[in-house]
Amino acid sequence: MIPPVANRFVAGEGPAGALEHVRQLNGRDVKAIVNLLGEHYDDREDVDADAREYRELVEDIARSDLEATISVKPTQIGLDLGESVFRENLEEIVETAADRGVFVWIDMEDHTTTDATLDAYEELARAYGGGERSAETRSSSDRWADGGVGVCVQANLKRTRRDVERLADVPGKVRFVKGAYDEPSEIAYTDGEAVNREYEALLEFAFEQFEDGIAVGSHDPAMIERAIELHEEHGTDFEIQMLMGVRNDAQFELAEEYEVYQYVPYGARWKSYFYRRAMERKENLRFALRAVLGR
Ligand code: FAD
Repeated sequence: MIPPVANRFVAGEGPAGALEHVRQLNGRDVKAIVNLLGEHYDDREDVDADAREYRELVEDIARSDLEATISVKPTQIGLDLGESVFRENLEEIVETAADRGVFVWIDMEDHTTTDATLDAYEELARAYGGGERSAETRSSSDRWADGGVGVCVQANLKRTRRDVERLADVPGKVRFVKGAYDEPSEIAYTDGEAVNREYEALLEFAFEQFEDGIAVGSHDPAMIERAIELHEEHGTDFEIQMLMGVRNDAQFELAEEYEVYQYVPYGARWKSYFYRRAMERKENLRFALRAVLGR
């Protein structure tokens, strides 16, 4: 059982809780990206168990009337055991999802995984695209919701500008984030202001060069405002993505006008994810302590 204090950031230990949470979100026009918590497995059984659970999750989503995608971590489905294990599992998940019309996101982990992640993404995006785009749905904001694949890129990595130029010609979808991993200064911007500048520059490039398929994965009001300006300037479609429990009110408010997705983590391995969220900001920590102390 997940204690009530963690319920703000994690939607339960099993898929049923996560999908119930998605139902409530959908009721307020927010769509979902469901993530089974797990990373850096060095045991093939753990890898295959999570890959299987993702395929079952895709079936559950397809059987429901929910607006939900999934997001997987490369080291959760085998990257630490070898690129071929990761590729094999990812391909099976994406294939199952494409058959069922469910979109698959690939999270980006630390810089040692970037090449393998982008290579796998590119191959799958060329095969499965960024979602079915039939003539009838092409003009609707849901055109990416039916199958396809997307990947996350991190503004803190200096290589990302080059990567994004490469991705501009790939028919998938790209989530832009600032980057969650501590990286060495030789390869990464470590100062927050520099990361913000880079994030904005990446958004400018994407809104100018991408035909569509841009996801703004940020809670930062300044970056969201910039994305809206760029959307108005260039007409390029985009979606806003935020984490469960972070700026929830803003998510519902933005969903009245824009396409908003909430990243919804669930699973038995919720503790380290919850601690990361709680430690990230003083008010989160205060909230967690108050709940633990019962005040
Ligand atoms: P920050 O720079 O953390 O904050 C900027 C401003 O946003 C703050 O000043 C404040 O105004 C507002 N804000 C931020 N947090 C809060 C809060 N808790 N409450 C109120 N206001 C707040 N990282 C990866 O490395 N790989 C991934 O695959 C990945 N996927 C992600 C998917 C999604 C949907 C999201 C939202 C993030 C993902 N991240 C990922 C994490 C990301 O890299 C950042 O670490 C994280 O989002 C924090 O950066 P930020 O842009 O939200 O803003």
